[in-house]
Amino acid sequence: MANTNIKYESRVCPSCGCSDTGNVSVSSKHPAEYFDLDDLQSHWNGFFKEKVIFSYSRCAKCHLLYSPTFFSDGQLEALYAQMPDNTAGVPLEALEKTQKGYFNILKEYKFEKGGYLETGPDIGLFTKNIISNPALKKFWLFEPNRTVWPTLSKLADSDRLHLSAEMFGFSEVPDQSISVAVMIHVLDHLINPVEILKKLRMKMAPGAVLAVVTHDESSLLAKITGNGWPAYCLQHPQLYSPKTIRALMKEAGFNVVQVQRTVNYFPVTYLFKHLLWAFGIRINVPSWDALQIPLKLGNILTIASPE
Ligand SMILES: [Zn+2]
Repeated sequence: MANTNIKYESRVCPSCGCSDTGNVSVSSKHPAEYFDLDDLQSHWNGFFKEKVIFSYSRCAKCHLLYSPTFFSDGQLEALYAQMPDNTAGVPLEALEKTQKGYFNILKEYKFEKGGYLETGPDIGLFTKNIISNPALKKFWLFEPNRTVWPTLSKLADSDRLHLSAEMFGFSEVPDQSISVAVMIHVLDHLINPVEILKKLRMKMAPGAVLAVVTHDESSLLAKITGNGWPAYCLQHPQLYSPKTIRALMKEAGFNVVQVQRTVNYFPVTYLFKHLLWAFGIRINVPSWDALQIPLKLGNILTIASPE
């Protein structure tokens, strides 16, 4: 620990570019900036006893909560490359219900005829809700995990579906051709969110709809659990609130039309088991996934449109 030779990146505010931050707002007992890279690897994957995160501070200008010290691009690439799949634990049916909830908000909007673009669709739990919309002619899915491609390619005919392994390799997408774009739990992970959003904006038609799901650092859950909130982790160089995501979208040339708190579904037995575990009681609870309850876990859905 405390290897001062290891250099992480120094960052200004990734939203407004201001370098002025106040005191540290959230950190761990031993902040990540004092660890060397090898030691952070096990913390990255979540297999650890003690939580270690890079300290988060608040931008003095736009109030975004971000880590002024974070992994470099190259370090991140290596960390993501060795990461195991992370959907384990919650049954598929509950995950599907959560995604359907996002879709039910988005479907209130009118889609112009055009293309659909999604980054990180995984197995397409959200995508399959929207795929039958007659306004959408072509589907551009950007998914680096090739093991899910066989599942994704079943969603539509090959002449309508375009798969790419590069998360933000939008160059083949014709400018102003996209009428709906979706990013679910992507924006919290990016060290350069404004740059990526600007790239995306060029591909979007006037009047197009962008739907983004992120964590909400201003949520009650985040306030109650403090630095124990699961979204405070090594994979999130910044976290948004309804206020700061509006400012970020504006920087990238989008107008926010709606920010809504969303629900995640969990089976009752899953929650009961974890509640018992929290009290140190490790027993097997019979798995009965039929009864699922919605919880507001500090996620927000932002709907925006190119300016
Ligand atoms: Zn800022």
